[in-house]
Amino acid sequence: MKTYLVGGAVRDELLGLPVKDRDWVVTGATPEEMRQRGFKQVGADFPVFLHPDTREEYALARTERKQGRGYHGFTVYSAPDVTLEDDLKRRDLTINAMAKTTHGELVDPFGGREDIQTLSLRHVSEAFAEDPLRILRTARFAARLQPLGFTVAEPTMALMRHMVKEGEVEHLVAERVWQEIQRALHENEPGTFFEVLRDCGALTRIVPELDGGDTFSAALSALRCAHHNEGETSTRFAALVSPLTPAEARSRTKKLKAPNDCQDLARLTTSLMPQIRTMTSYRADTLLEVLDEADVWRRAARFTELLKALNCALPDAEQIKLGWLESARHAAMSVQAKELMAQGYKGKELGQAIHKQRLQRISESQQRQ
Ligand code: ATP
Ligand code: MG
Repeated sequence: MKTYLVGGAVRDELLGLPVKDRDWVVTGATPEEMRQRGFKQVGADFPVFLHPDTREEYALARTERKQGRGYHGFTVYSAPDVTLEDDLKRRDLTINAMAKTTHGELVDPFGGREDIQTLSLRHVSEAFAEDPLRILRTARFAARLQPLGFTVAEPTMALMRHMVKEGEVEHLVAERVWQEIQRALHENEPGTFFEVLRDCGALTRIVPELDGGDTFSAALSALRCAHHNEGETSTRFAALVSPLTPAEARSRTKKLKAPNDCQDLARLTTSLMPQIRTMTSYRADTLLEVLDEADVWRRAARFTELLKALNCALPDAEQIKLGWLESARHAAMSVQAKELMAQGYKGKELGQAIHKQRLQRISESQQRQ
């Protein structure tokens, strides 16, 4: 039995990047032997084990064959005669298909090291086409390694275009797509993810609403800003979809099965954008409408995220409006329901009195501006 360090750890070491987690491949062993050595089996479908002390992942070398369409159509074959090279061959990109022996020798049958030197994201073999998720992974690695100068190799881009034409992207389940989008939003250059998807034609299948000249560039510059500000996933996502209409954003985020906080912030951002954009001066009624719609009274933390998303979505010349919103909020917050109740207001009338007083305080705060 032999053990090799594989995948991301080998790649990142060669790139001089910090190694996050280490994955290992074991050849010449059976699951029984692994269990006897104290490894704990974790994979239900694949023979993957955890090391008893380090808890690192050890997978028996395996091959994967495509059977039918979609993500479930893989047949996994693992036996002591599967070689390291067989295992590396099923991987997506050459830079991810290198291994290292326990003596520190590099095993690189597909030219990963050369592709690191030439800054190329290149597919390992034609089997790349068997799994459309690899298109998204490649776009994500492009987003991660863009600052180092990496680009998608032309033959790989051509293969991805071919896969898209064949309708492969339609076979991806929403959960996997979202998982890649979510990760991509936090890569070094998230916009590159969407650029690569657009280049290969996949964007029209995944987020078609973004695939227009002006919309696309507005989306990317808002996303770049949210990334620069180290925003949360929901803020980054809301910035990305901020150029869409509220209806487009709502239906797309639902189809993508984005988590609730992302759907929510995207909805709020897109629905408030038109109101904020058409407001040309400090207007108490519009400001209170926005505050009410955002339910700032009960959702203070979400409002903070909303301001961050709007900060990236609004053109520079309109940034002042966020200041208006903040001072309007501050003024309105000084209204005390308790005081109005003490004056005898209750039920619907209490609500109206609160509204009226908030409006008044916001107007007064304008005079102080
Ligand atoms: P990260 O730093 O994001 O963890 P990684 O390269 O370790 O990067 P993982 O998603 O952890 O990526 O996968 C580990 C390895 O498994 C990859 O390096 C790649 O060789 C292989 N791999 C993962 N997913 C696929 C896939 N869908 N198709 C082919 N190979 C894959
Ligand atoms: Mg990994």
